[in-house]
Amino acid sequence: MTQALFKHAAAGVLSLEAYSPGMPIEELQRRLGVSNAIKLASNENPLGCSPRVREAVAAAVSEIDLARYPDGSGHRLKHKLASMHGIEPSRITLGNGSNDIIELLGRVFLGPDRAALFSAHAFAVYPIITQAQCARAVVVPARAADADQPYGHDLAGFSRALEVNADVALVFIANPNNPTGTWLAPTQIEAFLAQVPREVIVALDEAYYEYMEPALRGDVRAWLDRYPNLVVFRTFSKAYGLASLRVGYSLSSPELADLLNRVRQPFNNNSLALLAAEVALDDQDFVRASVELNTAERERLTQALLGMGLNVLPSQANFLAIDFGRDAKPLHQGLLERGVIVRPLASYALPQFLRVSIGTRAENDRFVEALGEVLTA
Ligand SMILES: *Cc1c(COP(=O)(O)O)cnc(C)c1O
Repeated sequence: MTQALFKHAAAGVLSLEAYSPGMPIEELQRRLGVSNAIKLASNENPLGCSPRVREAVAAAVSEIDLARYPDGSGHRLKHKLASMHGIEPSRITLGNGSNDIIELLGRVFLGPDRAALFSAHAFAVYPIITQAQCARAVVVPARAADADQPYGHDLAGFSRALEVNADVALVFIANPNNPTGTWLAPTQIEAFLAQVPREVIVALDEAYYEYMEPALRGDVRAWLDRYPNLVVFRTFSKAYGLASLRVGYSLSSPELADLLNRVRQPFNNNSLALLAAEVALDDQDFVRASVELNTAERERLTQALLGMGLNVLPSQANFLAIDFGRDAKPLHQGLLERGVIVRPLASYALPQFLRVSIGTRAENDRFVEALGEVLTA
């Protein structure tokens, strides 16, 4: 029965394992009967979103005609983003989350005779889309555990891999990378871009851009002008606190944007999401407050964990990867029993790690307390 059903399914899909998301609070309550749980598992904004967004969406629910399709071109949001970035709207592609952008790139550039190149321990969606497209994955070993960016991207290794894998069509770089939190200096990225053949697309994933120290942010606009094979993408899911509404976008050459647009679902962003993103852009004070909280708490939490004798990877993002030097599964379970949801990294080939999102001060304290109990239990 299933054999007949699967006969024509794409080979890549048959051997694919679905993305496993952080556990929702409701599920923990259902499974373990734990009440009052906190979730530090999906790198969401612990402050929620801008109150102005909440008000605008609430008002829009009663005002807009929900029977009408949304603006499929995302005109207003694109123009806002264009003026914010100082580039033409024709160079912007809107996605249903930046995950959608990754998928569009895969559909345009990957297939059975091509390969995607990315780092070991890089964002899980890159291998998923690669395999779904029946393309080959060229996985570049990460930097050493004792490097200045432990388990981070090795761009010299990327360049070497490109030389010997002529079928690479798409390169993914996550900066900072999820789940490690490691980053690349702008000079390293620029040097890499200068070496990549122009027919190879470089997809620079900047989901955590806002959390990076200003000195570490590259001049994306100048890069885009110099390298038409570059596509940079960002999201409203993290610092803007709109993960539930699903809005991301890319910046690229107009030609590349045109290719992505050909395979984009006609109405991939719903009306409320488009509105929320527009309003969110207008409240940069909220983004600043979110980033300030994150920077202060990331440092405080790092110090607390180091004080417990733990090994924490350096991070420019809104999460920390903690190396326990042993299977972290029982620790993950112990934390769940105490109502603290974090992210195990076994699916990232880092079974000795847990990833914890930076929460509010109170949430981080609760995590440290629960972790202390679990480690001594
Ligand atoms: C969270 C994340 C994304 C995208 O999330 P969306 O909600 O789909 O915008 C993309 N890349 C990385 C590395 C992420 O961690």
